[in-house]
Amino acid sequence: MLRFAPSPTGDMHIENLRVAIFNYMIAKQRDVNFIVRIEDADKERNIEGKDTEILQILEKFALPHNSVSHQSENLHIHQTLAIRLLEEKKAFVCTCTPKELELDKEESKKNRVAYRYSGRCSSMGAKEFSKLKQDNVPFVIRIKKPDVTIANHDLIKGDITATPNEVDSFVILRADSTPTYNFACACDDMLSDVSLVIRGEEHLSNTPKQIHIKQLLGYEQETLYAHLPIILNSDGKKMSNTDDAISLKWLFEQGFIPDTIANYLILLGNKTPTEIFTMPEALEWFSLDNISKSPAKFDIDKLRFINCKHLGLMDDKRLSSIFGFADANIGKLAKIYLEEASTISELESKIKPIFSPKNFEGEHGEQMRIMEKIIADAPMIDTFDEFISYIMKESGLKDENLFKPLRLLLTGAHHGPELSDIYPLIKSYLLEVAS
Ligand code: GLU
Repeated sequence: MLRFAPSPTGDMHIENLRVAIFNYMIAKQRDVNFIVRIEDADKERNIEGKDTEILQILEKFALPHNSVSHQSENLHIHQTLAIRLLEEKKAFVCTCTPKELELDKEESKKNRVAYRYSGRCSSMGAKEFSKLKQDNVPFVIRIKKPDVTIANHDLIKGDITATPNEVDSFVILRADSTPTYNFACACDDMLSDVSLVIRGEEHLSNTPKQIHIKQLLGYEQETLYAHLPIILNSDGKKMSNTDDAISLKWLFEQGFIPDTIANYLILLGNKTPTEIFTMPEALEWFSLDNISKSPAKFDIDKLRFINCKHLGLMDDKRLSSIFGFADANIGKLAKIYLEEASTISELESKIKPIFSPKNFEGEHGEQMRIMEKIIADAPMIDTFDEFISYIMKESGLKDENLFKPLRLLLTGAHHGPELSDIYPLIKSYLLEVAS
């Protein structure tokens, strides 16, 4: 079982999507289930509607899943498991006040040592728990730190170890009885028998904590972990919300298509047999073994290049539908413009003027009017050569006076691909185009 466990706390970005794609692909290759678990345990950070948005994005990228659940549905189980650890003396209740903890932290800072829980309450068990509950005294539950170093072999990052002090006696159930991220996540992975967790590098230090939780809960199956390196921006810094390209919304607005984004995210920091591929093709050879453990740099020019290739590979009629047509010829027309455009928005800026009313006010306006009239009265002409001879004959115009106004009349632009390539694709729209 593999899973994608997004938090509904913000817009889904490319690093999240890469995690979703990799989990989906490995599940598909292994023919095991792929589930989506919305990690909404931290109520204060949830943003309404983000879960739906995430699911819509998965659909857009054709990442089908076997089930969707919300972590909050398991709240009861998380609480029961925390109390079980308490009863088994593997956890303890802690009544340290925020003030006390703050002072401990300040002390560590002063002594220049990493902060660790003081152990002040570590002998408080199930008995104290009942009493505190009765008396309405606020408390949290902390898991006891391990006795030995926790070691784990990450499939991308290699051997990872954490000493008992690094794991520490951390909080698993907050004062409001809700589980912390590490606890809820470890319990749910255990309950779903997740065998491989692929996620972002920012979770690397959480892994020993989650392994520790599962060990104390008596879970015996092995969970493998693979932490994907971060993505850097063009300045070599970790991409953040200040980088537009991290946002899928922005990438869509710019006119990048899902096939491109998926291709690029699979390619990033990977050894692949080709540069341009679809996700079904990548399923044939994708392997975590080829993913680099160092960060990869986001390159918008490469993304543009890939987008151009995927638009070129798209079915003509499907491409035309993006511009409001259901006509393979319009798809072909768009592809001609791929010589000078790489995104949907750039293509739109070429196609739209062709079908919009033309401007007759400029230098060539008069000749354009003459041609407009000739075209309106002309029979249907099949080839560009015949068309141009007809216009020449009827208008008496030639050379510059013929081609410049004709280009403006047919495309609304001063420059562009050869008119002889464009004409056969727009000839059935000529009355609309040349006006
Ligand atoms: N909910 C976490 C996040 O969105 C992911 C946790 C995980 O994959 O274990 O960062």
